[in-house]
Order: sequence, then structure tokens, then C-alpha cells
Amino acid sequence: MNVVVIGANAAGMSFAAKYKRNQPADTVTIIEKRSYISFGSCGLPYFVGGQFDDTGRMVSRTPEQAINSGLDLRLETEVIAVNRLEQMVTLRHLGQDSQIAYDRLIICTGARPIVPDFGQYNRDNVFTLTSLEDGLALRAALSEDNKRQVCIIGAGFIGLEVFDAVHPTGKHITLIEREPHVMSRQFSPELIEPVEQAISASDTDLRTGCSVSAIRDRDQGGYCIETDQGTIEADIVVLALGFRPNTELFDLAKNDHGALLADLYGATEDPNIFTAGDCAVTHHQILGQPMYQPLATTANKQARMLADKLAGKATYLNGFLGSSCLKVLDYELACTGINEPMAKAHGLAVKVSTIHDKNQTDYCPGQEDISIKLVYHPETHVLLGGEIIGKKGVVGRVDALAVAISAGMTTAQLGYLDFCYAPPFARTWDALNVAGNVAR
Ligand SMILES: Cc1cc2nc3c(=O)[nH]c(=O)nc-3n(C[C@H](O)[C@H](O)[C@H](O)COP(=O)(O)OP(=O)(O)OC[C@H]3O[C@@H](n4cnc5c(N)ncnc54)[C@H](O)[C@@H]3O)c2cc1C
Repeated sequence: MNVVVIGANAAGMSFAAKYKRNQPADTVTIIEKRSYISFGSCGLPYFVGGQFDDTGRMVSRTPEQAINSGLDLRLETEVIAVNRLEQMVTLRHLGQDSQIAYDRLIICTGARPIVPDFGQYNRDNVFTLTSLEDGLALRAALSEDNKRQVCIIGAGFIGLEVFDAVHPTGKHITLIEREPHVMSRQFSPELIEPVEQAISASDTDLRTGCSVSAIRDRDQGGYCIETDQGTIEADIVVLALGFRPNTELFDLAKNDHGALLADLYGATEDPNIFTAGDCAVTHHQILGQPMYQPLATTANKQARMLADKLAGKATYLNGFLGSSCLKVLDYELACTGINEPMAKAHGLAVKVSTIHDKNQTDYCPGQEDISIKLVYHPETHVLLGGEIIGKKGVVGRVDALAVAISAGMTTAQLGYLDFCYAPPFARTWDALNVAGNVAR
């Protein structure tokens, strides 16, 4: 069996490595247009912020390791066409085109940053952050003392991670978000407001409800960013406006985002073509529907499950909750499952309950506020989602919540769940127990 994988990053390499281990007799060819593989973009904000210097630490597998494991790896080779009838892909390497046949094609082409048409401007100091090259270029620009003003457009995951990385450099930051709140797709206004206040208090010009219409070159160098709240000046601009799946090449069914439609295990409408990662939909565990949730966690798991499925092995995939987290200044933010806007968009009746509690006892140093919002079924009280924001102990609690949701637990069961307690970590009734008991 000839298996061809397009893309050698999180999804492509996870798939290829697992597939080859499962079915060593099959030929697995993996095509990657870049010169490196298995690059963890998730590390980029921290590299840009100077938390570590060695870019190799973002690479989990070298080309040599991939080749030594039996994979036929083709670097700096781009797939430029797929002929589904003849089961053939066209490759371009150093300007030369060639073809390769497949029995099974696995599309793991990922996504690229959205760059809106903001007019004509020089790109020298306007950055997106996805590749190693992006990270090196942004870090180099930030190291220049004469570049004092940074404007980040978009305050979702990447925008806020970049903000958090740049903030300690002492540069002046303007953070622009079109929605009324930062992270508005993931977090409720009442939970996110303290984080927004902390951002503003950190000498940052946070502009929410602010829409960018154009970027112009400034006469003395740098940029003018035209917005509906006036003109903002910047030496460095970071565009963090979301991602678009790399799927234009494929004549296959897609959702509104352009993500390839596939079943729970990555099977597309073509029986010989499968997909995983940021180029494809994932299935939401609660909504039971395909969604676009581009995350490293889902890309890796989806790809591995697909490899097991194709080997006829039992798999455990039951869809995804979209569990995710990030750090902003002293705050930890995390969420899982569905939130109110998602429920509304899908016509799902839910109840919600919010508590403001403490992460631990007051007599041990480190007590902080923690806010928890639960989303649950109005009659059965089965947990459907949750968001937690605080300064300590947030992510572990959301992980616990993800387990509770996956297990189909109710708010009442969460209220009595046997969580750990010792004074430096919690209170006798953990904040999650309290959230479960308060939800009615
Ligand atoms: C700055 C940043 C921070 C992030 N932080 C987190 C985080 O904290 N947690 C989290 O869960 N996720 C995070 N993510 C998301 C995560 O990185 C992605 O979900 C993950 O990389 C998706 O992997 P993938 O293999 O599907 O796609 P990609 O990583 O996009 O890889 C696709 C690969 O396909 C190759 N390719 C594309 N088209 C072709 C073609 N035609 N021919 C040959 N090769 C091709 C590309 O060169 C690329 O190597 C972050 C992303 C970024 C950018």
C-alpha cells in the first residue's frame, strides 16, 4: 500500500509515525514544502519573548529521525495538484515537477494566518506568527531599541500570547480587538473583564470594539493604522486575525471556513482520501457536529486516531471539547466544551451558573480569586462546558472539568467529586465543588 501524506507538521508527522509503526510494510511518503518538520508553532510567542533562544527546542523530530524510522520524507517539495481519478499527486521540487501515485492520500496541510486587505504598505515590519521564519523576524525586530511602538491587531489566542511575550520588553503596545471584548469567542464578559483591566493597567492601549480599515506607511518610517477609533502609530505591527485552512488545492467538500469536511476519523467524501489537523474540521463532542477548532492538541490526536483506524485498531475518539488555555500577565485562562454563545448559535437550551471563589485557603501564601462559569443541560444538569479565569490553579481545574464532561457527569456529581485538598492548593470544598453545588 502506497500512503502519501501532505504536510509534515503536527498532524502529518503524528499520522505518518503512527501509521508506519502500525503497518511497517506499507510505503509512507511524506511531502513537506518547508525545509523542516515537526515544528511546534506553540512555542513561538515564548521564543519571541526571549524565554529561550535555541529554536531547535521547538522541533520535536528532525528529518533524519523521520527517515531513520522508515518514512520517505521529501522536503522543500510542494504538492501543487491532486488527480483523484488517477490517484496521483503532482509535486514541485526546486522548480521541477513530478508525479507520485497513492493508494491512500492523507491531507495535513494545516492553516495560514489571515491577512486582510489593509491596502498598500511595506511589509518590512508587519508580521504574522506561524513559522520559524516569522518567529526569527519578529524577535529580531523587537530587539531593535529604536522600535518602541508595537501594535497587535487581534486579541484572540495568538494576539494575547504575543502581547504577553512583548509586554516585558517595555515597548509601548496597542492591542486592537474588533469585538467588544478580548477572547469573546471563548470567554464571557463578566469573567474576562478583570483580565482586560489588567491589560489596560499594564500601560497598554487596549482598544476593544475597534475596527482596523487600513495600514499606511508613515513618512518617517513605521506605520499608521487607520481605525474607527482614530489613527494609531506603530513601528512594528503584528497581525493575529485568525487562520484559514490550506485547502484550495483540493476539490473536496469544505465547511464555511474552508476546512475539509470529514467524519469523526478523518474520512473525506473520497474513500481514498483522509485528513487531519488545521486543514480539517473536528467533531465537537457536545454539539455532535463538525467544527473548525485549529489546535495542536486536536491535530495530534486526530492524526494518531486516524492511523489506528486505518490499521483496523480500536480507537477512542469521541470528538473534541476544544479545551484550551493561555496565560495573560498574571492571569490563567482556560475553557472546555460549549459556552453560551455556542449553545445559542446551535439552538441548544442551556443553563449557566457563575461563581467567584478562591483557589486555596487564606492562611497559606498565594490565595487568589478564581471565577468559574459552568454551562449545563437545563433539565438533566449534565455538564456541557465551562470557563475558568484566575491567577492560580485554573488549567488543572479545567482539565478536571473536561474529564467530568467527557464522563457525562452532572453538576451535582461535580459538587461532590472527590478532589484533593491541602491548604496551599485548595479549600475543603474545592472551587469546582462549589461551582457544581451552586448550579441549579
Ligand atoms: C503562534 C502559535 C501558537 C499556538 N499555540 C497553541 C497552543 O498553545 N495550544 C494549541 O493546542 N495549539 C496552538 N497553536 C496551534 C497549533 O500550532 C496548530 O493547531 C498545529 O500546528 C496544527 O498542525 P497541522 O499539522 O494541522 O498544521 P500546520 O502546523 O499548519 O502544518 C501544516 C504543514 O503542511 C505543509 N504544507 C501545506 N501545504 C502544503 C503543500 N501543498 N505541499 C507540501 N506541504 C504543505 C506546511 O508547510 C506545514 O508544515 C498555535 C499556533 C500558533 C501559530
